[in-house]
Amino acid sequence: MSSTDVSAKLFADAASVIPGGVNSPVRAFNSVGGTPRFITSAQGCWLTDADGNRYVDLVCSWGPMILGHAHPAVVEAVQRAAADGLSFGAPTPSESELAREIIDRVAPVERLRLVNSGTEATMSAIRLARGFTGRAKIIKFSGCYHGHSDALLADAGSGVATLGLPSSPGVTGAAAADTVVLPYNNVAALEDVFARFGDEIACVITEASPGNMGTVPPLPGFNAALRRITAAHGALLISDEVMTGFRVSRSGWYGLDPVDADLFTYGKVMSGGLPAAAFGGRADVMGRLAPLGPVYQAGTLSGNPVAMAAGLATLRAADDAVYATLDANADRLIGLIGDALTEAGVAHQIPRAGNMFSVFFGDADPVTDFASAKATETWRFPAFFHGLLDAGIYPPPSAYECWFVSTALDDDAFGRIAEALPAAARAAAQATA
Ligand SMILES: *Cc1c(COP(=O)(O)O)cnc(C)c1O
Repeated sequence: MSSTDVSAKLFADAASVIPGGVNSPVRAFNSVGGTPRFITSAQGCWLTDADGNRYVDLVCSWGPMILGHAHPAVVEAVQRAAADGLSFGAPTPSESELAREIIDRVAPVERLRLVNSGTEATMSAIRLARGFTGRAKIIKFSGCYHGHSDALLADAGSGVATLGLPSSPGVTGAAAADTVVLPYNNVAALEDVFARFGDEIACVITEASPGNMGTVPPLPGFNAALRRITAAHGALLISDEVMTGFRVSRSGWYGLDPVDADLFTYGKVMSGGLPAAAFGGRADVMGRLAPLGPVYQAGTLSGNPVAMAAGLATLRAADDAVYATLDANADRLIGLIGDALTEAGVAHQIPRAGNMFSVFFGDADPVTDFASAKATETWRFPAFFHGLLDAGIYPPPSAYECWFVSTALDDDAFGRIAEALPAAARAAAQATA
């Protein structure tokens, strides 16, 4: 294994000023162990760490970097925007250009509000749904992640899923109590809750295709059922496309499974690696937002011109050929991984949603919800992860995360992956619980 001494020292230094040394927990490698690599630069599909090791990047900043790192068109757009000033706290033309770019891609999105993170997008969409309907309760699905706002950090209560319980200290019982948590892909559970208190439910929020419990796509017709049931009870449907939006197709998951939600949330790809996100949807619902309506929502840096430039350059470069390449790269990668695991004799499934996928071990039934994801042999994942990392491949550091491809993966990168896989697959096969 190559040296990680510099990363180890940087991690220790970071831990003396930043809790746990990281600004987002998954970066600490807690679920796989080992030293988080401190990245100093990235180009195309390659990451370079502080020790000078290079890795083929299969995380892509958790999705945004569909074109690869430091794509010339994106970097140039950012440099040009930065030279014109970093932030004005006043409207700028590029905000409407990015809003238009998104509205043109997703028919039910008639108006769009720009924010700074996916967390803000979903939190604001929920406030708007409550303000619009005058109702308090929201429904989310176990294993779906919508950022870290209080109402969305709720777990299913024991037994009947009618009462959300805080899933983090600091979230009050009151903040979680209006959040009903249901098993994913289960229409009967949703119908049951709506039958009992349908007229108290403001909205259902769902990941358009979940990627935060590993890749767990909606069963055929599930999103359509959400639409049917919410509409029948006067509740709104929020499709969280922060991960899938503009990654799995030009129109996000909506392009593959066109269910007209009332509100959509975006982040990740739409800002090309800079901090920006958005929520949008029906004009009458969005019209309830301040300054048009009474539902308050604001942001000092919202619509930041440099972030707008990165997002616009990324979306404008993402034509049909880009999505075809992403799909082809996912096919090739899944093929290599599946072959290596089969060869090593380790049972596995590789659920896929567009060009996103994840790797679950064991011969359990197909994963359809968080409970079945947790029933897989996730304890094999750290050995597989480190087998790849040591060989210069950077997979997601948790079994419950998606793998992300970029268009920058080339034969050289795939060669490196193919070389690394057999030993990593053997390590997974030999792992013990
Ligand atoms: C990443 C993510 C979020 C949160 O976005 P942040 O920018 O990290 O706050 C919300 N929803 C989904 C589906 C995500 O994948």
